[in-house]
Amino acid sequence: MTATVSETRQAFDEAPVVLRLDNIRKSFGDAHVLNGISFDIHQHEVVALLGPSGSGKSTLMKCVNLLEQVDDGQIWLNGTDITDPRADQDAIRARIGVVFQQFNLFPHMSVIRNVTLAARKVHHWSKDRAEARALELLDRIGMRAKAGAYPDQLSGGQQQRVAIARALMTNPELLLLDEITSALDPMLVGEVLDMVSELKEQGTTILMATHEMSFAHDAADRIVLLRRGVIAENGTPREVMDESRNPETREFFSHFR
Ligand code: ADP
Ligand code: MG
Repeated sequence: MTATVSETRQAFDEAPVVLRLDNIRKSFGDAHVLNGISFDIHQHEVVALLGPSGSGKSTLMKCVNLLEQVDDGQIWLNGTDITDPRADQDAIRARIGVVFQQFNLFPHMSVIRNVTLAARKVHHWSKDRAEARALELLDRIGMRAKAGAYPDQLSGGQQQRVAIARALMTNPELLLLDEITSALDPMLVGEVLDMVSELKEQGTTILMATHEMSFAHDAADRIVLLRRGVIAENGTPREVMDESRNPETREFFSHFR
């Protein structure tokens, strides 16, 4: 039997909170980019973070990954306040996987070295442990045969899939995907989005910024729409993308039809 949207939502709402953003504020000089952002992501939930260019999606994700410091507010990862200045930043980063739009792989390193690098250098895994885990992940995405290849021998789609595999090395509690298909040729987007769908099937908790609206509509459990530094919408894809009565929201999505 297929669960209704509200039953599915209820199941998520009862799951543990993996990420809690509580009143996050971030400015660059006079530019108030994030003006009090609060939302939760529950275990196994896929949340699409949408909004026009410059609306603060990347800034928000960098705050979660501790690449930017929040000015105010708190971020909790499974109960740890990661904005606490005394928090162990490397330990927290091992708990969050991150993939960006581009420049994810080091061009002068083989695939296997790229995938194992952070686990070995930052998280102090042994070579054997890191390589075993990397090969398992590459195997899962059908790229084990490319372990010795260099990034320029791979398509852009394969490179992003390797970058996702690398982000999964430490078995993170949360995966952050920041416009990971934006720099790809259109014909390579599908294989990367398919991999995201597979991760969702496996129960990975994901926060993804994307302009792939039909993918967000079909794959996300929830849409968070940023506008002028605040959350303009937070609901199911149907509620936000199809049924919002807010004129600015409707105008935003009309560009993608
Ligand atoms: P998005 O990812 O939604 O396109 P960003 O988070 O990249 O938006 O940017 C939001 C705003 O913050 C933009 O106006 C951008 O110019 C500004 N911004 C982002 N990072 C910095 C920075 N390091 N210094 C100054 N301004 C920044
Ligand atoms: Mg961005």
